[in-house]
Amino acid sequence: MKDKKLYIKSFGCQMNKLDAGLVTAAFEEDGYSITDTEDNADVVLFNTCSVRANAENRVHSRIGYIGHLKKTRPHMVLGIIGCMAQRLGEEFLKDTAVDIVCGPSQIPDLLGMVNDVISERKKIVSVCADVREKPDATISETLDEFEYAFDSSKDQKTNQAFVRVMRGCNNFCSYCIVPFVRGPEVSRKPQQIFDQCKKLVDEGAKQITLLGQTVNSYEYSAGEKTYRLPDLLEMLSEIDSLKWLRFITSYPNLNHDEDLFKAMGELDKVCPYLHMPAQSGSDRILKAMNRHYSAQQYLDQLAVARSYVPDIAIAGDFIVGFPGETDEDFEATVELVKKANYKNIFAFKYSPRPGTKTDKKLEDNIPEEIKKLRNNELLKVQEQISAEYNKRYEGKILEVLVEGPSKKAHLNKAQNANNPQLIARTATDHIVVFNGPESLAGNFAQVEIEKTMPLTLFGNLV
Ligand code: SF4
Repeated sequence: MKDKKLYIKSFGCQMNKLDAGLVTAAFEEDGYSITDTEDNADVVLFNTCSVRANAENRVHSRIGYIGHLKKTRPHMVLGIIGCMAQRLGEEFLKDTAVDIVCGPSQIPDLLGMVNDVISERKKIVSVCADVREKPDATISETLDEFEYAFDSSKDQKTNQAFVRVMRGCNNFCSYCIVPFVRGPEVSRKPQQIFDQCKKLVDEGAKQITLLGQTVNSYEYSAGEKTYRLPDLLEMLSEIDSLKWLRFITSYPNLNHDEDLFKAMGELDKVCPYLHMPAQSGSDRILKAMNRHYSAQQYLDQLAVARSYVPDIAIAGDFIVGFPGETDEDFEATVELVKKANYKNIFAFKYSPRPGTKTDKKLEDNIPEEIKKLRNNELLKVQEQISAEYNKRYEGKILEVLVEGPSKKAHLNKAQNANNPQLIARTATDHIVVFNGPESLAGNFAQVEIEKTMPLTLFGNLV
């Protein structure tokens, strides 16, 4: 096939975006060009997410659209990759539009599968037979090699790269599908991570974000030595031209986090930013969620973090409307949010996921209307906290890493006609909007903050 076109759409988290980047680079190397519409694509890939029902429903409706397109473009190949592929497997083939179902561990073989479908017009399902079984060394090595070969600092944001340090999760939060679609925790070799980061920095990356579902449980044993996240941060800090290092997402780890916070305080390149979901402020609900800490222990962890990194900015995640959540439980969550003094939070309405313990054992008994009210109330409480929190930056000069032109025009003034609005982030992950030349994308700049809002800081290029 000449002039092959790939359309890839990714749903869900940063892990999925990383996978989509790797797959895109592999297809580009094979001669594909990337199109931004399904309508003229030869190969369509949906990189799916199973964390919320909403994301799954959107995939089903997009498949319906491809079925319609295939009536006039019968050569089109449709592949479903990612968590939903692992969760539903062969079931997807009930939909005749689907040609390939490929789990997250099988993406290095995806290009070969597409070629087989094109030449033999057959259907292919390739997922883990038992996803909780520790993958054998060959699978992990193939994934690592694929990651090393196709990771790039150009995929997502200029001069920024994302590097997976571990796969899977062992926590089994009762509502979460991740352990059943991404498998058990497997940490990558520290040297391999170092080599990959070094390569990305040599290609231009100035900031690297280390990714893991529970990145602070990274653990790799080699002989006598056990490497944890602080060791990795220390190793990576040695890479000369790397300026900022981040990591997401952390699960409150009562045993090891103090070492991590200490390392964050000592290593200049590690950004003072921590994303640590609490999920609830009610001990009763935390227990039902199978989260292994109490609200007070969680708050104590934040206090320890602040004792080592005084300017640390902390973000939290919450689920509202978990089965059986009473007004008192929700109030406890509001209280926790008030005490935690977050930079920002992400709040989600509980959505049952088939196959999880909560879905099997507990009825989704909080009406949608109440979930919505609680969600809005929590965000409103945080909005006031963020508004107050951000005032500390007014009049300050902050160093930012520029991402590129802002999608929204916030402050555009006639005198800035030649300098579009740019969006950037501070080391603390605050969004900063200012006018400046587009050529700043991917570079560091100094911005004097003039005005602050709950989610954004506005300023002028110094
Ligand atoms: S820590 Fe809990 S919520 Fe996070 S991925 Fe693992 S099981 Fe899911």
